[in-house]
Amino acid sequence: MSDDRQSMAVDIVCVGFGPAMGGFLSTLARDADPNLQVICYERADDIGFGVSGAVTRARGIRQSFPDLNPDEIPMAAAVGHEKIAYLLDPLGAGRHAPSRRSKSLRAADRLLRLLRLPADHAFELPWAPPFLRKEGGLLLSIGQFMQWTGAQAMSGGTVQIWPGMPVSEALVEDGRVVGVRLLDQGTDRQGHPDAGYMPGMDLRAALTVVGDGPVGAVGRQLDSLYGLPDGHHQHEWAVGVKMVVDLPDGVDLEPGTIFHTFGYPEPEIFGFFYVHPNHVASVGIFVPSWFHNPARTSYRYLQHYMLHPYLWRYLEGGKLRSWGAKSLQEAGKRGEPFLAGDGYARIGECSGSTNVLTGSGVDEAWTTGIQLAEAVKELRAAGRPFTKADLEETYLARRRASWVEREGSIAEKARDGFHRGVVTGLIGMAMAGATKGRLSIAGEPQLLPGLEEYYRGKLTPVDIDEVRHQCYGSGIAMHDALMDRCGWPAVPFDGQLLMSQQDALLVGGKVQAPAGYADHVTFLYPDFCERCATKLCIEICSGQALTPGPDGVPLFDRDKCVFCGACLWNCRQPLDDDPVRTNIAFRAGAGGLHSTEN
Ligand SMILES: Cc1cc2nc3c(=O)[nH]c(=O)nc-3n(C[C@H](O)[C@H](O)[C@H](O)COP(=O)(O)OP(=O)(O)OC[C@H]3O[C@@H](n4cnc5c(N)ncnc54)[C@H](O)[C@@H]3O)c2cc1C
Ligand code: SF4
Ligand code: SF4
Repeated sequence: MSDDRQSMAVDIVCVGFGPAMGGFLSTLARDADPNLQVICYERADDIGFGVSGAVTRARGIRQSFPDLNPDEIPMAAAVGHEKIAYLLDPLGAGRHAPSRRSKSLRAADRLLRLLRLPADHAFELPWAPPFLRKEGGLLLSIGQFMQWTGAQAMSGGTVQIWPGMPVSEALVEDGRVVGVRLLDQGTDRQGHPDAGYMPGMDLRAALTVVGDGPVGAVGRQLDSLYGLPDGHHQHEWAVGVKMVVDLPDGVDLEPGTIFHTFGYPEPEIFGFFYVHPNHVASVGIFVPSWFHNPARTSYRYLQHYMLHPYLWRYLEGGKLRSWGAKSLQEAGKRGEPFLAGDGYARIGECSGSTNVLTGSGVDEAWTTGIQLAEAVKELRAAGRPFTKADLEETYLARRRASWVEREGSIAEKARDGFHRGVVTGLIGMAMAGATKGRLSIAGEPQLLPGLEEYYRGKLTPVDIDEVRHQCYGSGIAMHDALMDRCGWPAVPFDGQLLMSQQDALLVGGKVQAPAGYADHVTFLYPDFCERCATKLCIEICSGQALTPGPDGVPLFDRDKCVFCGACLWNCRQPLDDDPVRTNIAFRAGAGGLHSTEN
């Protein structure tokens, strides 16, 4: 057992290898600089771990690689035909159908059916509004794209990328970030030294670049330390869950074909179906924080989504290749933290770059990485240090003058209307898109209702108690049983594409849970959990890694955790002294569901 913490100095140390860091490192690597050493640490066990759609306009990506030929990147295609479809409920139109539709939506459905407009229970919009179109863009597998990007970035020798190395925290001295500390290894699940203990190394650097995405521990540490700028908050989230599917023989959709959908399985759930080359598609949904269902299981909803006749006509007979889930920080520009400080800068989704109007994050994140790299080059050429003032004059100035800022501002209030209802939200979004953000509909996040309130009219409190008793007694989440009782049909498992969540964990990727690390999901105040009736963390869990425990505190099984981060923002219990934080401590950790295709 070693107590000695090693320390090493580098010029620039980076946290997380997602699209933002891809933009940063490829730009730095372009002019090989023998006097510059840049090390990037990625927590996942490979450098192509991410989960994303991903359809992107690729403006920043093409700036980095002007001659980019999608044929060189596995699963990539140029964006082709784009369709937007409203999905009606194929299971019934009335009040008692399982999908919870408001009166206005039911009326709209009736009208559409009366006019015989829907085909396959879907109404295709005659055109896609310009703010949603991705003409000239790329359809990617983010895993494959990041592997390709990593190889380009490392080829020059300036940049090293180390996967399987979670950063536990930023090192902060007198308010200045001076580097990072890697996670201790050889600990028990509580983080106590165990056999083979190795304290995580300290990396001291003139500049620390934080691009650890929506639920990264280092970004959240900086948010706690420095706070957010006045008026900013990070209350808007979504969890995206997707499957990569071998399409059945006979489906001849062109690579680059894109379907965006809304309306089903619940009106709040947006979905996508993207066609890659070689008969492969990505299909997924987003479950947003403003969806009021306190038992919002994304996996089961994804299966009902795929079974919708509009999509099932292409998917029936298909085969699961991989799947994954990941959170999105949807507060966008309104969630922007301080972008730079003495010794550090933030890029990508953890810096508020995601655009909630166009549903885009990849190219925005990438472009903020380019902007920081250009600023670093400028500062190094002038022999200037990485102080807050210098970074603001170079990085911040570039960002404020760019399309990322312009479009982020247009998107800022675009989705507020969804807090008042889906139809209001859609109108608000269309208004913001059409008027470039000048008009939108206001709305504030609402407290989630309890199960009894949400299911009023569908299930009685006695029904819910019965389900709770049965499920918690068997150590499972309630969501499936609640959906069954509301009339959702059983999913016809075929063992190929439709399968239980546990089978998907085995078939659709590889969950890594390397031993010797502390659990990354822990409960700050177990007594809060004991009293918590809804246990939303369990109901949202993408991998069934959180289950009811005997004393009311959820049990966490790291071998099933896909590292989606949804539990972090789906705890119902904000802390009294820090309402932005919840009762879940989501720390840096290794592992997660690994598939390089997502
Ligand atoms: C299902 C889904 C579909 C999407 N579809 C689209 C789409 O079609 N188009 C689009 O433009 N965007 C889409 N997005 C959003 C897009 O994927 C994100 O906005 C984008 O990936 C953000 O890039 P990033 O580099 O900022 O962060 P991330 O991609 O989150 O990368 C951060 C990296 O940091 C690593 N990390 C975190 N903590 C640590 C730590 N402590 N130590 C070391 N490493 C760490 C993570 O493992 C991760 O690899 C989608 C997202 C999802 C989930
Ligand atoms: S972590 Fe939060 S949501 Fe989960 S049981 Fe505890 S208090 Fe409830
Ligand atoms: S426990 Fe893991 S899989 Fe479950 S919600 Fe949390 S991060 Fe996602």
